[in-house]
Amino acid sequence: MKRFGVVLWVLIFIALIGGVVLVTGSWNRDQGLAQIVSTKQVKKENCELVVKSREFNREPYYNGPLIDDHLHMPVSSSVVSSVSVTMGLPSPSWDKTLTTDYLNCLSESLGTKQTIGFYLLTKFSSAGEVSMAKKIEKKYPGKIAHFLMPSLFNSFINVDAKTFSDALEKNPNLFKGIGEIKTFDNRELDDPFLMELYGLAEKHKLIVMIHPFHHQKAKVEKILKQYSKVNFLFHGGEENANIIFELMKSYPNAYYSLDADITSIYGWERQNNDNQPNREQWLAYVRKNFDGVLDQSSAERWKRRLESFPDRVLWGTDRWYRWHFDTEVVGLINEISRNFIGRLDLTMQEKFAYKNAQKLFNLR
Ligand SMILES: [Zn+2]
Repeated sequence: MKRFGVVLWVLIFIALIGGVVLVTGSWNRDQGLAQIVSTKQVKKENCELVVKSREFNREPYYNGPLIDDHLHMPVSSSVVSSVSVTMGLPSPSWDKTLTTDYLNCLSESLGTKQTIGFYLLTKFSSAGEVSMAKKIEKKYPGKIAHFLMPSLFNSFINVDAKTFSDALEKNPNLFKGIGEIKTFDNRELDDPFLMELYGLAEKHKLIVMIHPFHHQKAKVEKILKQYSKVNFLFHGGEENANIIFELMKSYPNAYYSLDADITSIYGWERQNNDNQPNREQWLAYVRKNFDGVLDQSSAERWKRRLESFPDRVLWGTDRWYRWHFDTEVVGLINEISRNFIGRLDLTMQEKFAYKNAQKLFNLR
């Protein structure tokens, strides 16, 4: 316990130093990016990534467009990235290889039309995140639906509701939503800060994306009822599915995203649930068990649920860590997903793959 305290203080110290570094550092990085953009407009043809060929050639296979409804954007600050590693949620930062061009190119090579991207706001990096969203929007208009995500890890790094409100007021129509909201800090889903965010969502006509814990069903229902004009997108895999699909029967403003559960990028089976795989472990597992992963995710486990709400279920990937942006990994995520979608009823494949997202996020 004592040791934990020391570690926490060291982290806080690092973060404080980081705040100073950030103010100067992120400015410089931003300038660098602006220069690249203005001197050498990156055109579509410059994307040299080729579509990774299918490894397993299973049928049926969905070949249409996709909209990824769940992507954690790399963070604007390398300090926040370093601290996030020690918190067990390693968020990569933008750098020379993980660039906005690379991300856009990667999406294009996979047939992903658009992406819902979450920008993690911390006390030390909210300005950098907002300016990153602006830059991406300018460079790739309409490609990313930008979401503002609170840091619900501890109150030391989390921003206040005013930061959200300011970002929304100063950048009209830039942001499409708020989230992902996941209360790692054990607060309730109806605590005053979050209620303020839902209020902002109502005011600015935004979508709210929440990852509830399974004991939060009553709070989820309370929010759905109280903010009936706000559309809420939930996820959380098997553990939450029954709760959310149950609530969807009574609340037309509830939507469901099925993402990481299709591909097990955060682990598989009970014994592996707390032991998150790295790139090599995941690739090895999927390559050895491709049919098993597909059977486990599609089959009767999801098909019936998805098909009972054909207009309110959306596909995503829930990528977050650095290796989730690796071309081989992403190629396999894409292949499994397309096989998964191919197994759904023909009438709802496109809806799940992109049309529902298009409608919900008002994308063109
Ligand atoms: Zn997520």
